[in-house]
Amino acid sequence: MSNFANRKPHAVLIPYPVQGHINPLFKLAKLLHLRGFHITFVNTEYNHKRLLKSRGRNAFDDFPGFRFETIPDGLPPTEGDGDGDVSQDILSLCQSIRKNFLQPFREILAKIHDSAAAGLIPHVTCLVSDCFMSFTIQAAEELALPILLFSPGSACSFLSVSHFRTLFDKGLIPLKDESYLTSGYLNTKVECIPGMQNFRLKDLPDFIRITNPNDFMVEFFIQAADEFHKASAIVFNTYNELESDVMNVLYSMFPSIYTIGPLPSLLNQTPQNHLASLGSNLWKEDTSCLEWLESKEPESVVYVNFGSITVMSPDQLLELAWGLANSKKPFLWIIRPDLVIGGSFILSSEFENEISNRGLIASWCPQEQVLNHPSIGGFLTHCGWNSTIESICAGVPMLCWPFFADQPTNCRYICNEWEIGVEIDTNVKREVVEKLISELMVGDKGKKMRQKAMELKKKAEKNTSPGGCSYDNLDKVIKEVLLKQY
Ligand code: UDP
Repeated sequence: MSNFANRKPHAVLIPYPVQGHINPLFKLAKLLHLRGFHITFVNTEYNHKRLLKSRGRNAFDDFPGFRFETIPDGLPPTEGDGDGDVSQDILSLCQSIRKNFLQPFREILAKIHDSAAAGLIPHVTCLVSDCFMSFTIQAAEELALPILLFSPGSACSFLSVSHFRTLFDKGLIPLKDESYLTSGYLNTKVECIPGMQNFRLKDLPDFIRITNPNDFMVEFFIQAADEFHKASAIVFNTYNELESDVMNVLYSMFPSIYTIGPLPSLLNQTPQNHLASLGSNLWKEDTSCLEWLESKEPESVVYVNFGSITVMSPDQLLELAWGLANSKKPFLWIIRPDLVIGGSFILSSEFENEISNRGLIASWCPQEQVLNHPSIGGFLTHCGWNSTIESICAGVPMLCWPFFADQPTNCRYICNEWEIGVEIDTNVKREVVEKLISELMVGDKGKKMRQKAMELKKKAEKNTSPGGCSYDNLDKVIKEVLLKQY
């Protein structure tokens, strides 16, 4: 490596080890690389093995200055030598992160230090960490490095998590017993989180639906939130106008925070993006669905995808299948191998005949390309934040079927604040699916939602163009935080 390359700034990035957190941080890594940073991206061994399997072993060889390191996730090996196409259990991951991740992370930083001392790579300039990987703050303190926390979810879910302790203090959680889950108690209005008017307990991330005061997951989030203020700065994959009330509250809570999203839009607007083919999907993408979309009319296809972790019962799958079939609209449905609880499911030959050339089922797709295809008219989504923001970037309205985590919070925003979606009840029935799909694809309400989604897309583009707030914020973060000691 030349001396010139050795003088580059060097960012070490580490996501929480699941797909929905890896993707946006990977985008930020690309943006930093395009702005001159040497990049080390830290994956768990399990995820990295999957990444190489899905992208091809040599897929990452031709990107000088963009390198990976791996750490063990501390979980017992899974069946099939750990190379199965399945997401790992979130609770076990969180427990292991707490116990096992700091030491191997320190060792990576020490290894980089040795290589830098030998003149092989630049010295580390800064750490960029998922906000729920809070052990990285200690590592940054030990080496006196600036640390940027990245919030992979909405600003709204970040604000909710920041108030989990308040919910305890006010006695709103834990629930007295399981009956409170169904008694209507979750409709209680939350008045102790400024910036989130008209939110009910059931709109908050579902981790709060606990009866045990010592619940590990809630405690994990509270501990992470307690560390937020120790970061040099925090960045959000959103834009100011999208979540303005919430952002205003966050600006008053933390001294150094920036909106830099939507990252898909920011990256798409970066000229000379020689990293375009550098992908982070852990499942192998089936690209044949893009050809299939070519054969369909503009805005005619319903796209159905539940992200990387959500699972559903065989009954839910069946009701959805027949709702889609009976809607008579073309659809592209992504059914991950581990989507259905219990593993196996059978869609009858009657269903196959009914959908014939009208429906396509695949196991994983290049979602952003799909959403931006002119044939897509609506997105039936679980409301993961990436899916939400990618849909906004594509100007596509949504049918919302939230399951867990921050999905109910995002759903509330999509349907009530932005009015670019309608919600399906969890207890889904095929007649309701059929009716809501018609409303979304050809009804007046669908038309209005599409218009509003297009308006949000345009605002997203404005924010991420040169001179736009998110665009300028990324430059500010680089200058004021990441290069502070450079
Ligand atoms: N994704 C994809 N193809 C698929 C399913 C998902 O590329 O078939 C990507 C999607 O674009 C998004 C991420 O996986 O970036 C899923 O993140 P999200 O926050 O929507 O949901 P999660 O998986 O965290 O529940």
